[in-house]
Amino acid sequence: MSVIQAPRGTFDVLPADAARRAALEAHAARILEAAGYGRIETPTFEATELFSRGVGAATDIVQKEMYTFDDGGGRSLTLRPEGTAPVCRAYLEHGMHKLPQPVKLWYMSSFYRAEAPQRGRYRQFWQIGAEVIGSATAETDAELILLLAELLQSFGVREPRLLLSSLGTPATRAEYREELAAFLHAHEDSLSSDVVARIDLNPLRAFDSKDPTTRATMRAAPKLLDRLAPEDAAHFQRVREMLDDAELRYELEPTLVRGLDYYARTVYEFTSEALGAAQSTVGGGGRYDGLMEQLDGPPTPASGWAAGVERILLGAPEPPTAAQPVDLYVAIATADAGRAAFHLVSEARRAGLSAQLELAGRSLKGQLKQADRLGARYVAIVGTDSEVALKEMDSGEQTDYARNAVIPTILRSHTLP
Ligand code: AMP
Repeated sequence: MSVIQAPRGTFDVLPADAARRAALEAHAARILEAAGYGRIETPTFEATELFSRGVGAATDIVQKEMYTFDDGGGRSLTLRPEGTAPVCRAYLEHGMHKLPQPVKLWYMSSFYRAEAPQRGRYRQFWQIGAEVIGSATAETDAELILLLAELLQSFGVREPRLLLSSLGTPATRAEYREELAAFLHAHEDSLSSDVVARIDLNPLRAFDSKDPTTRATMRAAPKLLDRLAPEDAAHFQRVREMLDDAELRYELEPTLVRGLDYYARTVYEFTSEALGAAQSTVGGGGRYDGLMEQLDGPPTPASGWAAGVERILLGAPEPPTAAQPVDLYVAIATADAGRAAFHLVSEARRAGLSAQLELAGRSLKGQLKQADRLGARYVAIVGTDSEVALKEMDSGEQTDYARNAVIPTILRSHTLP
């Protein structure tokens, strides 16, 4: 029989990793809550329809990557593959449109996608996300981008690059798609055969081709950014001006295509070479003005991003982890001293000390060694006498105290310089 393993594409968060994740969570909370974003947590699973309508039935996520199951009562449920549709569902369900607008929310939650696992790509992963619902302004988009930049830079993600574009409206996009398809058909002779085969399915993919002849042809292809309606172009211009004022560098990436259907106007991605070429995207987002209506809500402009927790951790250098300090290790000197030792460690914890009790039945010598390994400041050696030997590990000094004097002694030593 072999040991049962965690499912492919999942991972355990062991204590050594948990500290960095907690630090990132606290870091995100500090940045986002200082900007007025309130934390939200939605259920791990939702009605499947939320994603087929909210993410888009034709997207890779919905077509291939969802963990969908029957709840036993004939209802189809899906493990959430992303956070925006659930947050919009919650906004509608709780009538948040009655609150002063916009409503600013953030989350750090787990998500599930049946993707081919590799470094930085898992089937269960975590995202930190921020959404602003009920504002159409360019300031909202610029604020969100700057907050994500701040989160990545101050956590130490190496060499973050910001790619920025605008998708205009769905109508502009549909017209542009036709124009691009016509251009591609007219240049079929100078395009690779796989690009030609996909012209009508997804003409935008032609921009991703690695084939040199195709790439040369695509330089002359029409760009969506040049086709934006005047009000969309002006909106995008304002976003860019605010990023310029904030001195945040970005690269215009006219072919940036996000994997989800619901985006309109501003879209962006942050990448980091530190992650390697294949999975270099740390986070991304954009404006999704049409999503709320897809979910039968009133027209409500909205904008947001999500960044991968594991990718941020991969992209940031690891600081030396400071081990949790141990003030007191309670050693058990004789077999019948267990109860007194247990009492002492409980009292120490109630007094706010970080305290550990011998739990492995080691010899006294072994217990002192264990205390040393943990970096304990004091070891209390509890026997059956009314006195306890308190050993200060740094100096090696050992003094006997009445049992009830042990904790006050340690507490006093805390406040000494
Ligand atoms: P998306 O919702 O696809 O825009 O993803 C936002 C971010 O989540 C990406 O930039 C990644 O950092 C992260 N992400 C997406 N899918 C995965 C995955 N399968 N494993 C790990 N991180 C992911």
